[in-house]
Amino acid sequence: MIDPARARILVCNDDGIHGPGLKVLEKVARGISNDVWVVAPESEQSAAGHSLTLTVPLRVRRLSARRFAINGTPTDCVLLAVRHILDDHRPDLVLSGVNAGGNLGEDITYSGTVAAAMEATLLGIPAIALSQLRRGGVPVGWGCARHHAGAVIRRLIDAGWPARVLINVNFPDCPAREVTGIEVAVQGRRKIGEVLNPGVDPRGHPYLWIGAERDEDASFAGSDLAAVHEGMISVTPLSIDLTHRRSMAGLRAALA
Ligand code: MN
Repeated sequence: MIDPARARILVCNDDGIHGPGLKVLEKVARGISNDVWVVAPESEQSAAGHSLTLTVPLRVRRLSARRFAINGTPTDCVLLAVRHILDDHRPDLVLSGVNAGGNLGEDITYSGTVAAAMEATLLGIPAIALSQLRRGGVPVGWGCARHHAGAVIRRLIDAGWPARVLINVNFPDCPAREVTGIEVAVQGRRKIGEVLNPGVDPRGHPYLWIGAERDEDASFAGSDLAAVHEGMISVTPLSIDLTHRRSMAGLRAALA
């Protein structure tokens, strides 16, 4: 079990080293332990998924004693933090976020925020991904994550979770005082890519720009989406093992 006050905490994200949610999470982490390290992508890597950079060299830039930027993906950052920067003393906990926007339903299959937590989990380090929901077209309100993240992280550390499992936390888009509780929820249904915005660039070449609109089902009871729509903080344990066990017997019989 992790002793929070003595824990070495690695903070990373997918919005990049200048992401405002990274500062929120750094501050929350420093409220838990004074051994906090930040390793984040140089540029925004939202929707980078669990991609690893193999075709170009990675460079680590030290910005201050415990703060680093890397020209790679969130997964690169966690791998290089654990296997290189903090090689002599591995982190006890990895926190990823706070992402600007929810990571709900099928978002998690694209999410760099969740992937960073996934990479930590694969390296044997407990990890939590944290995201703050937002309304489109207005600046992100960080109050809910800022106010509640510390307590949620501490309670998760107390509770513990199995190896090869990571925790996905989403804060609703409402003032911190209006949060109605914490809901342990299943992954819901929410798919990006509904709208492809066509345009023509300044040199006359046509393009398509994938819109932020999602096809989502907030009525799916017990889901992460339903929870945040009710003003709850959603907590979803995610398994690295994607096997769908209930399909196996049928497939075995059919393929015998
Ligand atoms: Mn992001």
